[in-house]
Order: sequence, then structure tokens, then C-alpha cells
Amino acid sequence: MVLLVAIVQFIVDLYLLIIYGETFSTLHVDMLAAFVATNPSEAIEYLKSYLTIDKVFIISLSLSLLLVLFYFLRRIKFKANFWGECVISIIVLVSVCVSGIEYKNLLLGNIYFLFQTESYDLKEYRQNPELICSGEKPKYVVLIIGESFSKMHSSLYSYSKETNPLLSKLAADSLLFVCKNSTSACTKTIPAIKSIMTSYVNEMSDSIDWFKCLTLIEVMQKIDYKAVWISNHSREGFFDNEVGCYAALCDYSVFANERDYYSRYDQVLLPLIEECLNGDSTQTFFVVNMLGSHIYYKDRYPEKFSKFKSEDYIASYHHLPTESRQTISEYDNSILYNDSVVYEIMKTFEQQDAIVVYISDHGQDIFNSSNDYAGHAINGNYVSEQVAVLVPLLVYTSPIFKKKHSLLYKRIESSETMPYRTDSIMYTIMDVAGIETVNGVSYKHKSLLK
Ligand SMILES: [Zn+2]
Repeated sequence: MVLLVAIVQFIVDLYLLIIYGETFSTLHVDMLAAFVATNPSEAIEYLKSYLTIDKVFIISLSLSLLLVLFYFLRRIKFKANFWGECVISIIVLVSVCVSGIEYKNLLLGNIYFLFQTESYDLKEYRQNPELICSGEKPKYVVLIIGESFSKMHSSLYSYSKETNPLLSKLAADSLLFVCKNSTSACTKTIPAIKSIMTSYVNEMSDSIDWFKCLTLIEVMQKIDYKAVWISNHSREGFFDNEVGCYAALCDYSVFANERDYYSRYDQVLLPLIEECLNGDSTQTFFVVNMLGSHIYYKDRYPEKFSKFKSEDYIASYHHLPTESRQTISEYDNSILYNDSVVYEIMKTFEQQDAIVVYISDHGQDIFNSSNDYAGHAINGNYVSEQVAVLVPLLVYTSPIFKKKHSLLYKRIESSETMPYRTDSIMYTIMDVAGIETVNGVSYKHKSLLK
């Protein structure tokens, strides 16, 4: 079967090579990898973004070719037809050498994600670490995990379009710190979130069981924070179980789609956060998981945020076709809308003793590596993978926090230019919460704050 698929792939690639000057194999592998490493709604959006008319035609053509091939293979009498055997052998040989390599990688490599989506009860893997703390802890520590935000499209990072007007105001008031040299640990949602929420390191995935790693949730609970998970993704599902494991560890979790919301815009998170603010002295650690700017970009924002139009990009992207400029404008509009929601979340904590850290799980390659690719990243493409880890890292401190934790505030202020990767964010949160050592070991060197 693999050979047959490879043969069809070879024929399709040959057709694309002649018509478009490039093959489809890399896109297939990348698409499947992104598809299995994300959740169903993201996956459907991802698929929608690829299924343009010409690609639907190509897929239909491949299926037709597969059927035709089956039909003829059943009728060919190989021993009686020397030339038929030669032609088939050559096609099989070339297919295995060209497309077959891609499919071997796909079948033996990326598809293993499918078997890694078990749901674990992380409470069974609690490590009960011994923690030593110092100083006064902020009442609210908030970690916002954004989605697909490339800092190359953020005006906070010198992008030419004003995509972050509200957050820029907070930065101008010295309430928001913009970490200049931040990157994400990887380019796919699930491994990125694992590396954010735990001591898991993506590069060591062969030797580390992700579910046995120390979680940030457990650490915060151990120092008397109530842990709350608020999400605009899904709680359960074939692709959601792993992220859902972290939510299940929390004292309270809520998923916007479990309420009767018809809109999946991220503003649905705001009332859910407000519900969790308390008048008593309970310290709370929030994790807010947004839909952000995930493909399909134009579904991520309400109409009134359609500020940027494709014609605004003619001068800077004259080499791209109109539909690609349209995609860029939609992506920038989603960043603009994200700006307003993240701003509102930060303002929710304005009157509190609170610190809010925003990171994106990964970035996006928006026609950076190729004139016809916008998505997570093309697997194995150096430029694409380098671009797709360029994410923002933002730290908001309320005026009360600024006054009450002046030493911490100064440390944040002086750390804006530190190079930083999102898989160490756990240690920054621990630092903010005053944790000196875990089982006698200090992790302060992994904190963003110097
Ligand atoms: Zn993602």
C-alpha cells in the first residue's frame, strides 16, 4: 500500500513539477505533522487553509490515479508483458527513491504523534518537591499562552504596520516589558505547551517521558496558589488530551466551548477570568490558553478588526500574488485583535497585586521561506523553522505590583534584552513566586530575570 501511495505521489509530484516547478511532498509531510500535533478545531482550520481549488483538483486527480492504477494492476499479466513489467518497475523504483523517502519518514516518523496522544492522570505522577521560598508572593500570577503570534508581525518589535497599538500604550507607561530576544522552543502546539508547562525539553523527547516531568501547576499549588486553567481550546479529544492533562491538574478549569458561546473569538475568555477573581486573600495562578492567530487567520477576529487590506501590502510584498497579500492582511488583523484581548486581560488585573506574562506557543512562517507557504513551519526547511520560533514575550506588572515588589520590578526592567526561550518560562514564574530552590537545587539561572 505504501508503494502504491508512493507511486501516486510520484505521478502527482511529476505533474506539479511540470506545472508549478515544485513538488507537493514536503507540504504533505508538514501538513500531517501539524495536523496531528494540534487540536481538532485548529486542524480543521489548518486543512481549510490548504484546500484551495487547485489543491482539491490535485487531490481528486491523485485519488483517480490510484483507482486507475488498481484497475490496471489487477489486469496486467506481468510475466506475459515484459514492457509493462519494466515500466511498473521503473515507476516503483523512482517512486521509492523520491516520494517513498518522504513517506517512509512520514509513516515511521511523524505519524508516531498519533500514538502519543494518550491521556495521563498527572496527579499520579506528582513529585511532591521540597521547595524553599523567600519574599512576598504576588496575589495573582497569570501566564497567557498565545497561539501562532510571530513577533515579525508585531509593532512592539518594530513591524511597520501598527498591530499592537494598545499594548504599546502599556509599554509607554512602563507597565509592559517587551523581551527583545525571545524564541519558542518548537514550532508545534502540543510539544510547545509541554515544554512551557513542565521541565520537559523538546530536544530530549527520546529520553524523557513528558508526563513524568515536574509541572509548573504542582509547583505553584505546593506554595499555596490556587491553580486555574481558562481555555478557548477543547478540554478533551484525540488531539486535546495531552494539554487537557495539565488543566485536570488544576484546582479549577473552564473551557469556553463548554459554555453556550457561539463565537470562538478570544474575548469569550474575559468574563471567565473575571469570574475567578476573588475578594479574599487567596493567591491564584492563572493559565489562559488563547486561540490567538491560528490558521485560518480570518476566522480569528470580528469584522470590525479588518483594518489591514491586501492593497496595503503591494509595495512591501509586490513579488507575491494578491491572495498571499490577502493572507498577510488577515494575519495582521488577527494580531491586531489579539492585541485588544491581551490588553483587556492585563487591564482586568490593573487594580490587583498582579503580574501577567504573555508568550506564544510558537510563531508562524508567513511567506518568509517560500512565496506560497503560510503556516506553522515547513519541516526540515531551515529558514522556515528559524522564522517560526520568533515569538513575543511580554511581561505586564500592575501599578500595585510595581509598588509592592519594587526589587522584582527592577529585575524585570533590567532583563528586557536577555535572550530567552519559552521552555524556561516555568523557571521565571517560579522566580517571580519567590521559589529559591527545588529539592535543594536553585533554578534561578534559568529565569529570565537577572
Ligand atoms: Zn499552536
